[in-house]
Amino acid sequence: MLTIVKYGDPVLREKGARIEKITPEIKTLIQEMFATMKAARGVGLAAQQVGKALQLCVIDIREVTDRPSTLELDGKESDPNAFMPIALINPKFTTEGEPVAGPEGCLSFPEIYADIARPPQIDVTATNEKGETVRFKCGGLLARAIQHEYDHLQGILFIDRMSLDDKAEHKPEIDAIQAATKAKLKK
Ligand code: ZN
Repeated sequence: MLTIVKYGDPVLREKGARIEKITPEIKTLIQEMFATMKAARGVGLAAQQVGKALQLCVIDIREVTDRPSTLELDGKESDPNAFMPIALINPKFTTEGEPVAGPEGCLSFPEIYADIARPPQIDVTATNEKGETVRFKCGGLLARAIQHEYDHLQGILFIDRMSLDDKAEHKPEIDAIQAATKAKLKK
């Protein structure tokens, strides 16, 4: 199992490098990220969160049953659960609709949750772990999770998108996580 990096580690602020070739090392990393995400009961995990600044994230929304997702694959309505888990390499997307607020947490910020406004639907293009180009449209939790992970790949964190009130409210916990991480890195 990989160690999940917490806020305060500088790797979370690094923009990920594009992955040009899916080497055996990348394939292994993806399998380890799937296992780490599952063990942590997360809906997504970015490479930065396991200490690697790369354009790679994994997603699995199957555990969350009270927040629906939609998926349109090859122009057809599809079952999002049957599409999980997914690895997205060098992902890009366009957004549709006005931003909607919804609750988010992050494995790099344990126990912190806040509403974040994001567009409700996205049209995604990425490479999968087999090196194939995948294109799909999604909405609901899946669209939110992909946007959250995509931010990580650019070095952007959900605290950057919190309202000023939410950020002020959570400041003591955020500062505590950062201080604990920095103390650990010094050792
Ligand atoms: Zn996160």
